[in-house]
Amino acid sequence: MQRYGHFIAGEYVDPIAGRWFETANPYTGKPWAEIARGDAADVARAVEAAVAGQADWAALTATARGKALVRLADLIEGHADHLAEIEVRDNGKLYAEMRAQTGYIAEWYRYFGGLADKIEGHVIPSDKAGVFNFTRYEPLGVVGMITPWNSPLLLLAWKLGAALAAGNAAVIKPSEFTSASTLEFMPLFAKAGFPAGVVNTVTGFGAEAGAPLVNHPEVAKIAFTGSDIGGARVYEAAARQIKPVSLELGGKSPNIVFEDADLEAAVMGAISGIFAATGQTCIAGSRLLLQRSIHDRFVERLVEVAGAARIGDPMAAETHVGPVTTPPQYRKVLEYIEIARNEGARCVLGGGPVEGAPGGQFVQPTIFTGVHNAMRIAQEEVFGPVLAVIPFEDEAEAIAIANDIPFGLAAGVWTRDMGRALRLSERLKAGTVWVNTYRAVSYTSPFGGYKRSGIGRESGMESIKEYLQVKSVWIAT
Ligand code: NAD
Repeated sequence: MQRYGHFIAGEYVDPIAGRWFETANPYTGKPWAEIARGDAADVARAVEAAVAGQADWAALTATARGKALVRLADLIEGHADHLAEIEVRDNGKLYAEMRAQTGYIAEWYRYFGGLADKIEGHVIPSDKAGVFNFTRYEPLGVVGMITPWNSPLLLLAWKLGAALAAGNAAVIKPSEFTSASTLEFMPLFAKAGFPAGVVNTVTGFGAEAGAPLVNHPEVAKIAFTGSDIGGARVYEAAARQIKPVSLELGGKSPNIVFEDADLEAAVMGAISGIFAATGQTCIAGSRLLLQRSIHDRFVERLVEVAGAARIGDPMAAETHVGPVTTPPQYRKVLEYIEIARNEGARCVLGGGPVEGAPGGQFVQPTIFTGVHNAMRIAQEEVFGPVLAVIPFEDEAEAIAIANDIPFGLAAGVWTRDMGRALRLSERLKAGTVWVNTYRAVSYTSPFGGYKRSGIGRESGMESIKEYLQVKSVWIAT
């Protein structure tokens, strides 16, 4: 079986304690590689390499750093087939989607490469005579990056592009379920001309490898994407050291359809909103709010289209829905289907495992109607192909239901009334609002959560400030 060591100071290294664990293919349920099971000693080794790497990286001109990021983007495009295939092997997402996503990931590095030499301080008009006061933006140093299993390389790019452009080094701890694509990505940095040690990866479990990374005194910041529970643990540990964090956490996003919408477009938006990536996206439109006047015919069409989805091999071009990525997640999704039934919701599609699946964890695309917003199926993140349909009367009720949730990552609005679109985009408490579209993200646009969905923003111009600190310099003249 293939083995992957940690990637530290430009090379793969065995774990210091000599421990390994297996990673499995969610489609077959079979292990396919061994991954280093890191601990505090491996983290310390990686941070030491990153401290040295950061000094070399920050010594380059900003323009040289930017050019290296642009070369990296070109290399990602050249290796996108391979990286996408590895990611599918580990997380079971559709290859077609993953291949498109991996090519697009290059744009984050290209965009932040372009920004690297445009980080400018200011001259401050001082109230004091005889001083020259200016600001300079400086890197934080070594940033710890902790990523989840659903889109490892994309969610890493959102952090790493900005952090590197700002002059930082990184130690990455990918999810224990999907470490391989991040490890396969690592050699591209040397090819792009990055000094060794600028980007390092330590693999392993959250408590064993993630926690020591958060606690390491030379790690200046933690950028975390994952569950709200994991995020809270990281936030608590970082707080003890007054260490800044960015947290990209879960969601329970409302997708709101008004009677005046292009209903066919809204059906497709609702379906891709919840069933793409088998529902395992933080932005899943997992609460579908339907105006009562269109409720029944909309549900009928939804069931017709979603019911025709082909479930199967994520590598096959004709597959629409792949497996659930991890065994615990599979159990969790089935548990939530039971919870919804016990709460009195009506299952109108799916509602269980796929019979005769090839060994992996397959759940049928599932739709519940008759859901009240107070039910657990409406309030808690399932992170699977399970849609909760909630009816509403009018705009005011739609906004009230949409906002009555601890999360605030994203929201969708389907209407032809642009006044209403503007009113909702103002009143919905979510970091992203899509009108007559759903799931669009870009390197140009800030992304992040309101409320329990997180702290900070990734992508776009302002996200680079998450990885900089400002110094005020006073010179007596
Ligand atoms: P998770 O919180 O279980 O794990 C995320 C990462 O944190 C993993 O690498 C894990 O090993 C690590 N970790 C766990 N405990 C830790 C600890 N005590 N200290 C340090 N690290 C620790 O999340 P997951 O199940 O891998 O991912 C799914 C979740 O991620 C969902 O809630 C989803 O909504 C969220 N997510 C959010 C975004 C976003 O941008 N907002 C994007 C994708 C996924």
